[in-house]
Amino acid sequence: MPLLERLAEILEPSDLLTAAGDTAPYLTDWRKLYHGEALAVVRPRSTEQVSRVVALAAEAGVSIVPQGGNTGLAGAATPRSNGNNLVLSLERMNKIRALDAANYTITVEAGCILQQVQEAATQADRHFPLSLAAEGSCRIGGNLSTNAGGIAVLRYGNMRDLTLGLEVVLPDGRIWNGLRALRKDSAGYDLKHLFIGAEGTLGVITAAVLKLFPRPRERASAFVAVASLDAALALLGRMRAASGDGLTSFEMIPRVALEKAIAHVPGSFDPFPDPHDAYLLIEMTSSRENSGITAVAEEALAAAMEDGLVREATIAQNETQAAALWFLREAVVEAQRAVGASIKHDVVVPLSAVPAFIREATAAVEAAVPGIVVYAFGHLGDGNVHFNLLQPPGMKPEAFLAEMGRLNRLVHDVSARHHGSISAEHGLGQLRNKEVRLYKPAIEFELMERIKLAIDPKGIMNPGKVL
Ligand SMILES: Cc1cc2nc3c(=O)[nH]c(=O)nc-3n(C[C@H](O)[C@H](O)[C@H](O)COP(=O)(O)OP(=O)(O)OC[C@H]3O[C@@H](n4cnc5c(N)ncnc54)[C@H](O)[C@@H]3O)c2cc1C
Repeated sequence: MPLLERLAEILEPSDLLTAAGDTAPYLTDWRKLYHGEALAVVRPRSTEQVSRVVALAAEAGVSIVPQGGNTGLAGAATPRSNGNNLVLSLERMNKIRALDAANYTITVEAGCILQQVQEAATQADRHFPLSLAAEGSCRIGGNLSTNAGGIAVLRYGNMRDLTLGLEVVLPDGRIWNGLRALRKDSAGYDLKHLFIGAEGTLGVITAAVLKLFPRPRERASAFVAVASLDAALALLGRMRAASGDGLTSFEMIPRVALEKAIAHVPGSFDPFPDPHDAYLLIEMTSSRENSGITAVAEEALAAAMEDGLVREATIAQNETQAAALWFLREAVVEAQRAVGASIKHDVVVPLSAVPAFIREATAAVEAAVPGIVVYAFGHLGDGNVHFNLLQPPGMKPEAFLAEMGRLNRLVHDVSARHHGSISAEHGLGQLRNKEVRLYKPAIEFELMERIKLAIDPKGIMNPGKVL
C-alpha cells in the first residue's frame, strides 16, 4: 500500500496535509531563503504516532524533516526540493506533561511553544530562562535541536545546559525514553547530547525534561552608551563582579542599528540626547525581594562613568520602562528587514577577542565592498556577535548578495583566527553545512559521520543538513 494511504490509517485527516495551499507554510523557511517539496506534512499527536509515522517512512525510503515553529535561521527545517520527504510538524504535541516544583524540573512535549513553557514555570513560582525574540512561535523541539541561546545564556547557559532528559523517536521508529530528571548521572555515555543541536538529523525529539530556577523577583535594566568596545568588555567584568552572579543579559547595539530601528520600527526611540557609537542593554536580576539590585547597578555604572568606560546610562524605573528598552533590542533585529539585502553571520569568539574580531572583520569587509554597512549586534556577554552586513546605499540587492561567498569567507576567517565558531546559536542547517568544513578539523566530521551512520544507517533523518 502506498505510504500516504498507510499514513491515512493512523492519522486524523486534519493531521495529514497534502494540498498545496495547506503545505506551503511548512515548505519555506522564516527568511524565505529556502523552498522545498514534500509528499505531505504530518502532524502527529503522540509519541506513538510519531513512532509509527517514522517506521512507515523508513520502510518506504522517504525522508523525515522534523519541524517546530519554523523560525530557524539556517534553513534546517525546510525539506529538499526532490519531494521524497515528509515534513513532520510537532505542533500538535504541545502538552506540559509534568512540573515538579521541588525538583525544579518541567517535562514538556516537543511541540510546546517556548513562551508556553516560560508561563507554566511562572505559574508554579519557578523560572524557565531560555528567552529569544522568536519565543512566541519557536517550539521546544526546535530549541533543543538548534541548541538555542538567546539573551540569558550569560547566566543560565544555552538549551544544552538547560536539559536533563529527552524522549526521542529513532530513525527506525523505536522510542528511546530518556526522560530522566536527574542532575547527576554518570552511568555511561550521555546520549541526550547527541540529539541536542543535531538539527533533526539523528531522530525526532518528542519530549524533554528541562531545568527550572527560582523566579526572578526584581530586575534592573539599563541602557548604556560606552566609550568603546574595549570599555564594554571591561564593564562586563565589573558588572558580573558587582552583581554577585546576578548579571543576566549584556547585549550590544551599535549606533547604526539604533538609527535604523528609529527610522523603520515605530515605537523605537533614542534614549539619549547625543549620539554614541556603541550601546549596551544590561540586565541584572535577583530572586530576592528588596534585593537592592537597582542600587547595585547604579553604583557600578556611576563608577564606570567616573573611570571613563561609560558615557551615558539610564536605568529603567519600572516595568514599562524596562519593556521599552527591550523593545529597542528587538527593533534592531526587525529593522534589518526594512533596509534591503543583508548578509548575516552568527559568530562566536572568546569574550576577550570580541573587540579585535569586530575591528578586523569590519576592516576586511569595508575593503572588499566599499560603502558596506556593518550591523554588528548581539549577545556580547557570551562572545556571540551577529555580524550582519547591509548593502551599500545605491547598490542593487542582487549585486550585493552575489558577494555573499566572498564576505562569508572574510568574516569567518577572522573568527577562525580568534579561535571562534561560524555558528553560535543558529546551527548549520543548509546555510553553513559546506562552509563549516573549512573551519573544523576533518576528524570531527569523520566522527560525526560515523555517529550518523550508527544511528540513522538509511540516512532518512533530515538529509542535506549539518553534514
Ligand atoms: C526574530 C528571531 C529572533 C531569533 N533569535 C534567536 C536567538 O536570540 N537565539 C537563538 O538561538 N535563536 C534565535 N532565533 C532562531 C530560532 O528562533 C531558533 O533557532 C529556534 O530554536 C528554532 O526553533 P523552531 O521551533 O522554530 O525550530 P524550526 O525552525 O522548526 O527547526 C529548527 C531545526 O530543528 C529541527 N527540529 C525541530 N523540531 C524538532 C524535533 N522535535 N526533533 C528533532 N528535530 C527538530 C528542524 O528539523 C531544524 O533542523 C531567532 C529567530 C527569529 C526569527
